[in-house]
Amino acid sequence: MVKVCIIGTGYVGLPTGVGLAELGHDVVCVDKDEVKVQSLQRAQATLYEDGLEDLLKKNITAGKINFSTSMADSVPNADLVILAVGTPPHPVTHEADMQYIYAATQELAQYLKDYTVVAIKSTVPVGTGDRVEQMIRQNNPNADFDVVSLPEFLREGFAVHDFFHPDRVVVGSNSERATQVIQDLYAGFPDKVNMLLVKRRSSETIKYASNAFLAIKIHYINEMANFCEKAGADVLEVAKGMGMDSRIGPKFLNPGPGFGGSCFPKDTMAMAYMARMNDVMMTLIEDVIKENAVRKKQMAGRILNMVKDIEKPKIAVLGLAFKNGTDDCRESPAMEILDELLKNDVHVTVYDPKAMANAQKILGDKVAYAPDMYDALTGADVLALLTEWDDFKELDLSRLAQSMHHKNIVDCRNLLSPEQALQHGFKYQGIGR
Ligand code: NAD
Repeated sequence: MVKVCIIGTGYVGLPTGVGLAELGHDVVCVDKDEVKVQSLQRAQATLYEDGLEDLLKKNITAGKINFSTSMADSVPNADLVILAVGTPPHPVTHEADMQYIYAATQELAQYLKDYTVVAIKSTVPVGTGDRVEQMIRQNNPNADFDVVSLPEFLREGFAVHDFFHPDRVVVGSNSERATQVIQDLYAGFPDKVNMLLVKRRSSETIKYASNAFLAIKIHYINEMANFCEKAGADVLEVAKGMGMDSRIGPKFLNPGPGFGGSCFPKDTMAMAYMARMNDVMMTLIEDVIKENAVRKKQMAGRILNMVKDIEKPKIAVLGLAFKNGTDDCRESPAMEILDELLKNDVHVTVYDPKAMANAQKILGDKVAYAPDMYDALTGADVLALLTEWDDFKELDLSRLAQSMHHKNIVDCRNLLSPEQALQHGFKYQGIGR
């Protein structure tokens, strides 16, 4: 059993803390956000992930996990402190903004007591491990500690599943003693963990290299979708055929409105920035970042084009989260598409099964919020499907045909059958087919 203190209870820190508690470790999660901590202390999850709240309740009741706003109370008792605070893009340079990492490091340094491993789980630029080590030493010269890189690869929407069944665990450590603590942490996992031990700087690079690669793969199939639309091919058939090649693999070949979320946009920008700072040109990543932004404008254009002859058209948007299974709207393609739509004289009603509260924080009163998907569609001139929730695949098209004012669908996630949409009299536009 490892005594763990996690700093930051967001989309990474909370599932990690709850998962480690479930495996029998003693966990305390620290966050500066008092409202969040109070809610978690009452066993109310502060974000949506399938299965998270049940595990949270179970482990609070079992006394395996606690929540606190105080590092002074939590850090001294820990064998392992995990940093899971945000590293958002810097508003001007687009490099990773390290203010939260450095503030947390400075604070925790003063409370280190016996030998402690400080693991950086946040996605951080190469060399951050060295910088954090230096800061701790400056703030607490007598501290007995090691800093390791422990990047996180979980997928939002599947965070609990991915915690218990990681493809791999990458550990960047320059110390055998620290590596042993991390090995103890993963000893009780249900499946044997595929652990890769590497240099700290390699570990930091693996995270960015992986996310940039996945973003490029998504953009590739989006460009292929554009080609298929012109060439009369079906991108879903093309993706299936490509994915059967074991060198390519079937994942991340779903064409859509462009990648988004709290990771790919910021991590591609941070990778490009780091490359420039090291005098390395990564033109592929630079181009993908630019073209991915263009794609969202193009999607908005498709929606507006469907209703170009209608005065103040009513647009129904289904899906606000950046992907299914999460309530996270950070950098969601839906938010950027809505931003474009709202530059025009349109009326927009939105619905999402989980992300309404988070979307409302971004969109305010610029749109109307519907209580369910059919309500959003009543009297609409066009339906725009922007997130791949399973519920939307079950839409009753005959009911829509009755309740919509004009029968137009822009399906940015290829959720519906084009044939069925046409049978019900809809003008339908999917992606790449
Ligand atoms: P988040 O914004 O959801 O959560 C960060 C939390 O840290 C917030 O609750 C904030 O209040 C807290 N915090 C900030 N400074 C603090 C401090 N000094 N002391 C205590 N708490 C503090 O962020 P997230 O999405 O969980 O991402 C965290 C890191 O993990 C980022 O670097 C991100 O790139 C990386 N990551 C995220 C994902 C993902 O799917 N979200 C996946 C892999 C890696």
